[in-house]
Amino acid sequence: MTETMTLERKAASGAVEHFDVLIVGAGISGIGAAYHLSTQCPGKSFVILDSLESFGGTWLTHKYPGIRSDSDLYTFGYRFKPWTSAPIASAAEILKYMGEVIEENDLGRHIRYRHKIAAGHWSSADNLWTLDVTDLATGETRTFTTNFLRMCQGYYHHDKGYTPEWPGMADFKGRIVHPQTWPEDIDLKGKKVVVIGSGATAATLVPAIAGDCAHVTMLQRSPTYFYAAPNVNELADMLRQLDVAEETVHDIVRRKALFDLKELSRRSLEEPDAVKAELLAGVKAYLGQDYDIEKHFTPRYRPWQQRLAFIPEGDMFKGIASGKASVVTDEIERFDATGIQLKSGEHLDADIIITATGFSLSVLGNIAFDIDGKPLNLADSVTYRGMMFTGVPNLLWIFGYFRASWTLRVDMLGDFVCRLLKHMDTRGAHRVEVALRPEDKDMPLLPWIAAENFNPGYLMRDLHLLPKRGDKPEWQHNQDYWKEREEIPAIDLDGPEFVYK
Ligand SMILES: Cc1cc2nc3c(=O)[nH]c(=O)nc-3n(C[C@H](O)[C@H](O)[C@H](O)COP(=O)(O)OP(=O)(O)OC[C@H]3O[C@@H](n4cnc5c(N)ncnc54)[C@H](O)[C@@H]3O)c2cc1C
Repeated sequence: MTETMTLERKAASGAVEHFDVLIVGAGISGIGAAYHLSTQCPGKSFVILDSLESFGGTWLTHKYPGIRSDSDLYTFGYRFKPWTSAPIASAAEILKYMGEVIEENDLGRHIRYRHKIAAGHWSSADNLWTLDVTDLATGETRTFTTNFLRMCQGYYHHDKGYTPEWPGMADFKGRIVHPQTWPEDIDLKGKKVVVIGSGATAATLVPAIAGDCAHVTMLQRSPTYFYAAPNVNELADMLRQLDVAEETVHDIVRRKALFDLKELSRRSLEEPDAVKAELLAGVKAYLGQDYDIEKHFTPRYRPWQQRLAFIPEGDMFKGIASGKASVVTDEIERFDATGIQLKSGEHLDADIIITATGFSLSVLGNIAFDIDGKPLNLADSVTYRGMMFTGVPNLLWIFGYFRASWTLRVDMLGDFVCRLLKHMDTRGAHRVEVALRPEDKDMPLLPWIAAENFNPGYLMRDLHLLPKRGDKPEWQHNQDYWKEREEIPAIDLDGPEFVYK
């Protein structure tokens, strides 16, 4: 696109607002990005746009009963704001924490809610992004320009979850609900409920509704690993008894949680059978020797190949042991008027069916991007450490960790972006782009993530939409927090993979 075309677009859409940095999304990533920008680059102007009516992203969208984290908040919380409660937190507690971060750092004045970004146009003539934004409150289209785009858009469609198509769904006389769009008017009292799925969402929902409905059945095709433990952090409690300041408690407990997590990741790879035996022993402790743990709780994959679902206080197992909840491991033949016909021949009667079947992947917030008028297909690009992309200037996105808290990367990349922006100023550069070096030209280009490393359904279904990875450390999102903790602060910004203009 030429400068004239950019100006024509601006003229056509009225007033244009310009910011040095534009942050897409006011979830835990966007608010973290704003904190780092305001503290480390105080001279930069910035705005956060979010299509929702408030901050929180994931923690605002999800309203199903029991909604909670499955990471501990000492690491899912930011490094700069102490977490002072039980390690596993409800969505309401996470929203309160984020609200305090906004308030304490005066970030609210930078946020525009109900602003949905539809398109983004890069102009090489101006070294500028121009964004077409709909103000959902008024229906008006607004134009924003920015030098640098911080994509904190998350990884899934917020308005709709993923529900597979099963035969006979239209015949079912009851209600089918996806947890991501939980209806306010739903009444579970005395109802027979089937929850399809056995990930973290199902494991949260089942105990949360077991007390209300007549019976709840968790129907899974294959089992998941669960880790049950009390929702307390003994080290934190001990330090508090000793009157240690909350900042220090946060720092120490965070280090300990990261140490434990690293050990678990290492052991899952090096001694998967031992880890598996320990996890299954934890389940047996709640359900007893007679329960068919082999059938219902012994996954086919090795521990940590999918996210490990944490069960605070073993609440789901207590629900099963009490008879209010049960697990069925089988495949769906079809839905019918009264429930679900299974391939084994068994029929599950249901008044309500909840499809806890996951997310629908959204790459770059569903924004139609173009580079100088040419539509951007991110799948054609190669990722630089899972944060920047070849052929896409002045843009960095955040995709967190699978096996560690997402937010660890928010703080890490918050530092990196500020270092990069300062470096550009020092060089007098208006544009930065990552590019393959001559020695990378013949590098094999692989899918974003290796399925044998991590393979959740939402990624596997739409892997073709994500950027490619190479076989060198610079050209992949290695998902290893402990390596990145050393590597990312040490990146040489004058290295040949960075091209400035
Ligand atoms: C139920 C649930 C529990 C989870 N628990 C954990 C956990 O315990 N630990 C963990 O590490 N991870 C967990 N995750 C993953 C979780 O999503 C991330 O950890 C984290 O919350 C993502 O934050 P985010 O800010 O990057 O993205 P999101 O929370 O998805 O927020 C993105 C924001 O960007 C906005 N946005 C997107 N596109 C546009 C657009 N075009 N225009 C305007 N605004 C836009 C959205 O409206 C949204 O508010 C969980 C996920 C779910 C769904």
